[in-house]
Amino acid sequence: MNRINVEKLVAKIISESGDDSKRSGLKSTPERVAKLFEEMLSGYSLSLKKVVEGSLFDTNLDDMIVIKDIEFYSLCEHDLTPFFGSVHVGYIPEGKIIGLSKIPKVIEIFSKRLQVQENLTNEISNALDSTISPHGLGVVIKAKHTCSIIRGKNFSSSNLTTSSMHGSFRSNLNTRQEFLSHIQSKS
Ligand SMILES: [Zn+2]
Repeated sequence: MNRINVEKLVAKIISESGDDSKRSGLKSTPERVAKLFEEMLSGYSLSLKKVVEGSLFDTNLDDMIVIKDIEFYSLCEHDLTPFFGSVHVGYIPEGKIIGLSKIPKVIEIFSKRLQVQENLTNEISNALDSTISPHGLGVVIKAKHTCSIIRGKNFSSSNLTTSSMHGSFRSNLNTRQEFLSHIQSKS
């Protein structure tokens, strides 16, 4: 992404707004917005292979591992407005576990792009499933969508829950239920 090009576009939006683009509060806005977009779109330059390198460990565990309330934000591909909330991940290992700190990093690969929540959920769960090769795995995302909030007419779609289940999380109702009750509990 060429930051100078983005700065020019932002300056154009400001001048089209009718406000005084020379006043002090707006002077550095194009530069700041360009930096923000660079950060929000930095997932394109991350690779799954590099992110998970050296972070898989052998295990005999076969109990469910749940990591919940991982904060994320992403950029709606239809409106270029943020959507944000929490990702919950659970899996039952089959010989391998992944270092805990890597999961937020894997989420960033896919969230820091132009996205829709449904695809984001799938891409995270597919990436983790192919990396860990677990017995079963589930990803649930709960997010608020700024685009819906701004339009103010569809409350239900401004609070959206999506899920993607693999292996025993998909085939076994009890396993899926155990995961869902973990992420609903307050502790
Ligand atoms: Zn949107």
